Amino acid sequence: MASKDVVIVGGGVMGCASALRLAQAGLSVTVLERSVPGAEASSAAAGILGPAVEAHHGHGEGHPHPGRRPAQDTLLTLGLRSRELHASLARELRDDHGIDVGFRRCGVMRVAVREDERSALATHAALLRGRALVDAIDGDEARRREPALGPAVLEAIDLPEEAQLDPPSLLDALAIAAERAGVHFRTATVHGVLVENDRAHGVRLDGETLGADHVVVAAGSWTSLVPGLRLDAARVHPVRGQILTTRTRPPVFRRVVFGAGGYVVTRPDGRVLCGSTEERVGFAREVTFAGLARIVELATTLAPRLADAPAEEHWSSFRPGTADDLPLVGPAGPEGLWLASGHYRNGILLAPITAELVRDAILGEPLPEEAAAIDPRRFLA
Ligand SMILES: Cc1cc2nc3c(=O)[nH]c(=O)nc-3n(C[C@H](O)[C@H](O)[C@H](O)COP(=O)(O)OP(=O)(O)OC[C@H]3O[C@@H](n4cnc5c(N)ncnc54)[C@H](O)[C@@H]3O)c2cc1C
Repeated sequence: MASKDVVIVGGGVMGCASALRLAQAGLSVTVLERSVPGAEASSAAAGILGPAVEAHHGHGEGHPHPGRRPAQDTLLTLGLRSRELHASLARELRDDHGIDVGFRRCGVMRVAVREDERSALATHAALLRGRALVDAIDGDEARRREPALGPAVLEAIDLPEEAQLDPPSLLDALAIAAERAGVHFRTATVHGVLVENDRAHGVRLDGETLGADHVVVAAGSWTSLVPGLRLDAARVHPVRGQILTTRTRPPVFRRVVFGAGGYVVTRPDGRVLCGSTEERVGFAREVTFAGLARIVELATTLAPRLADAPAEEHWSSFRPGTADDLPLVGPAGPEGLWLASGHYRNGILLAPITAELVRDAILGEPLPEEAAAIDPRRFLA
């Protein structure tokens, strides 16, 4: 098994985390990244590790696919497990490589500021009971716990087990750890997966081919653009998200705070990331006035004192969305062809569990039952 070559297309969090786990299992791994590791969505993310707060997506609350609860429950299960894997991954990266990725179990608070948001909060809390610690509180108690919260906050749910980390540090650490484990990183654009007799045997680069026993496509929002995949109906599509940062002293919140349509993430040093939009605009990289206006409105409703804070940086990137909002992890049809993509809003959260699933799938190990719901073959053309 150790002689098997794996080529990974894309050096985002999925490519780097999978490469690390595969190399640690003794496989020979090459990551092909057209830019630098973490160049795209993975370094642009807010770094919220929030399976519980994210669980309300897809549970009917304004979601285009209500009634898909079993699949979303699967995502909650995978997310809870992956959040715990992050705690041990952060320890591993610190102990073995001296890099602090900023993992902190800071907790997440989701608040309601309008009457009509209260029932959504109650539904969310009910959904989580028995699965995650959840504390439903009124506005005054929420302000006692987070004094910078504004007067508009009527109610909240407090989720103390949720966490955050710093994505650029995570990406640096994963790439360094992977390289030390023997992974070869190469700057190259992949123009296609080579498939013959229903078996993947490598990839096409500029003017050359590269052979491999296994090809893992982890190209984020660009996955559907890699020729050679047979996943028409699963087209991974980009969903733009914008972020605006500021800095306050003392730090504005201790927890990550979610309102309707966005969040405020506070780092321990007082840096604040306010996000985000969800826009189907193709690969347009602009940061827009309209997007920033929505972000500022929500952030200053959650924390009125942010109105006086200096705007620092802004950026946008592309979440890899899928037709059913579930990732595509596992076998992609032809033997030796695998996907690790489509993680939409939760790719940082789901990277550790995805890396383990990719490793186990390639090694032929048994997979947990939740793997069936994210098996890419559900979309095979
Ligand atoms: C604004 C914003 C905030 C977010 N916040 C969070 C959050 O708080 N928590 C969370 O869990 N998730 C968050 N996400 C989602 C998360 O960032 C993504 O789900 C995750 O980063 C996807 O990782 P990836 O490796 O699949 O894709 P990417 O990071 O996009 O990596 C794909 C890589 O493939 C490379 N590539 C593409 N095509 C080719 C090719 N043909 N050849 C070679 N290389 C190629 C690209 O250059 C890129 O580096 C956020 C996303 C955005 C945009």
